[in-house]
Amino acid sequence: MVTRSQILVRGIVQGVGFRPFIYSQANRRDLRGRVRNNTTGVLIEVEGNYSDIEQFIADIRSNPPPLSLIESIECSHHLAPADYADFLILESAQQGERFVPISADVSTCDACLKELFDARDRRYQYPFINCTNCGPRFTIVEDIPYDRAKTTMRDFEMCPDCRAEYENPLDRRFHAEPTACPVCGPQLYLLSADGLEVGPDVVAPQDTVAFVQGLLLKGRIVAIKGVGGFHLACDALSPEAVEQLRRRKYREDKPFAMMANSVEVVEQHCFVSEAERRLLLSERRPIVLLEKRPDSEIAQAVAPRVNNLGFMLPYSPLHHLLLNNLDQPLVMTSGNMSNEPISYDDGEATRRLNKIADYFLLHDRRIHMRTDDSVARIHDGREMILRRSRGHAPEPIRMAFRFERQVLACGAELKNTFCLARDKYAFVSHHIGDLENLETLQSFTEGIDHFKRLFFLEPEVVAYDLHPEYLSTKYALSLDDTATKIAVQHHHAHIASCMVDNQIDGEVIGVAMDGLGFGTDGRMWGGEFFVADFLEAERVAHLAYVPMPGGAKAIREPWRMAAIYLQHAFGDEFVNLDLPFVKDLEQRGWPTLRSMVATRSNSPETSSMGRLFDAVSSLLGVKAEVNYEGQAAIELEAMADRNCAEGYEFQISPTENAIEGGPVIRDAVEDLLDGFPAAVVSARFHSDVANLIVSMAAKVRNDRKLNRVALSGGVFQNMLLLGKTCEMLRRDGFQVFTHARVPTNDGGISLGQAAVANALIKSGRI
Ligand SMILES: [Zn+2]
Ligand SMILES: [Zn+2]
Repeated sequence: MVTRSQILVRGIVQGVGFRPFIYSQANRRDLRGRVRNNTTGVLIEVEGNYSDIEQFIADIRSNPPPLSLIESIECSHHLAPADYADFLILESAQQGERFVPISADVSTCDACLKELFDARDRRYQYPFINCTNCGPRFTIVEDIPYDRAKTTMRDFEMCPDCRAEYENPLDRRFHAEPTACPVCGPQLYLLSADGLEVGPDVVAPQDTVAFVQGLLLKGRIVAIKGVGGFHLACDALSPEAVEQLRRRKYREDKPFAMMANSVEVVEQHCFVSEAERRLLLSERRPIVLLEKRPDSEIAQAVAPRVNNLGFMLPYSPLHHLLLNNLDQPLVMTSGNMSNEPISYDDGEATRRLNKIADYFLLHDRRIHMRTDDSVARIHDGREMILRRSRGHAPEPIRMAFRFERQVLACGAELKNTFCLARDKYAFVSHHIGDLENLETLQSFTEGIDHFKRLFFLEPEVVAYDLHPEYLSTKYALSLDDTATKIAVQHHHAHIASCMVDNQIDGEVIGVAMDGLGFGTDGRMWGGEFFVADFLEAERVAHLAYVPMPGGAKAIREPWRMAAIYLQHAFGDEFVNLDLPFVKDLEQRGWPTLRSMVATRSNSPETSSMGRLFDAVSSLLGVKAEVNYEGQAAIELEAMADRNCAEGYEFQISPTENAIEGGPVIRDAVEDLLDGFPAAVVSARFHSDVANLIVSMAAKVRNDRKLNRVALSGGVFQNMLLLGKTCEMLRRDGFQVFTHARVPTNDGGISLGQAAVANALIKSGRI
């Protein structure tokens, strides 16, 4: 007996080959009907034997297309037959409640790669080859539903060959929206720095990429338009090329990422574990931070004074062509001036980058949403994301709870992301950057508008950081008054973010070790111990306050924090210590600083662990002034002797909740005076901070009968500290939660804000 069923599949089901998959499954079981995308998901109608329909649904559930992510399958069965003669794939319909997660950009698949290098294929060496299983998605989508007409590929009309593939349900490019070929699709072109096209008299169009590879090997710097924005590329083995790139980009020390053709090339320069190999090869293709081999020939200037290198493998056909047969890595850093967002528009890029790049390798496929490369590393055998962007965004993070109302969380100032949430999804944005200039702010507001449109969101709740000066806070407060505004303390958001990341609920011991975040007492926090849940964070202990002379200047000049901590530990007599550090203090301006602190002018108080790391780092001789965020701590970690286990003692008095940093500084100074190398002092300091965390957690466990510890905050990007802390906590019987899916740095703040705001709404307190 023939019966009809209507099936709605929700989740990531558009742009991932879902309809052809349904088509082939229906044909296999002799079912007739229709499948179409709507604004809610994929809507299927099938008729045939009921048992066949049941099997058909079971197959969808158990074996969906590789890039899809099914959230739910809703069915109405036993409807009257519509007497369909066949099974058809229909054009998209504008109906439903407009809520379809859009796939992230996916690296080139094996089938496309094979064609790319097959001289008989019509897409041989075509830099924009893609199919249903790979290619650009988020970066080219202008609106939903996901159809070619709503992407930047609408600029290109398909040729008859491409259209035939696109319309053939049995072709692997069936409804591959960005599909293209050399006849009809995007084209590459090469410009010199002065904007003139390098014509066929210099290089034949089909040889352009090989020509660019040659330019790079000759030491030139080339701006290359990629999937989510521009890269600046140069030869990673050439000190001259890399140093020139640094000079032109005004980027002194912050490490550059690199791209290599294969894991084997990466292995010439870094140690690569099995888990790291898998991460490098994963379809998201993040930059993976790896331990540098001592015999690596990478130019020092690629990553000065750090022991990790960031590598990624090619993820677009253009990259595969550019690195083809290349047995050495290229620097591939974001195409921007320092502190500006990545360039993505041709005109704007050539204007902004023409003092940096010698050439521009461009193409005419527009990038709608700029997206930086993601950054990840392996911790404890699993992926730990440090920058969640291309390859991840805008994929939603699935919640263990439901958002009562639609929430917009505006995030923090540095490494900003925003987050829009509804139902059981949190859409954490791609990496926006440091909200310190107009360009980044614009990228932030445009991003929010785009996400609202894509996911049909109209937030009723707006969460923001307590810091009154953050541009994200000012933005939140400037929004119209109908939304409920909720301020969330920075470190509470960190802990909540770690809890969401691990899908846990209830009270935890929250340890937030961070740079700076505005506290509820108006001071700058960052070395915090909480008893926390989503609703509340009770601050049970923190690093003792010290002044931060000059405010933000103390972040750029870590010597200021070293001087303050020395004064704290030894009194004003510290200037007589026999340390290299005190030699040029006078010249640096200590007397002024001293009176500044004495009169409490421009010296906000801080309990930041990040600033204590700065102080120790400076004491051990790293640069007096840093030029990128976290540099002093990163160099301190890099210099530590990995074989040294013992630490100093922080003093935790059983009654006080302020932990003094002075004793640790005294121990470190004594070691230096005794002639211990900086490597040992650094290692001991790391052990010591780990010790502090474990003793404090043990104290809270005694008092409050809690055994779960959530670790969050930018300081835990330090793998030496994170590793030691986790190991010691576990040895002591704690259950430890660290970040994996969202960054431990401020990139994770927006997700935590959304969770806290939701809990407050749910509780009825707001
Ligand atoms: Zn493909
Ligand atoms: Zn074509």
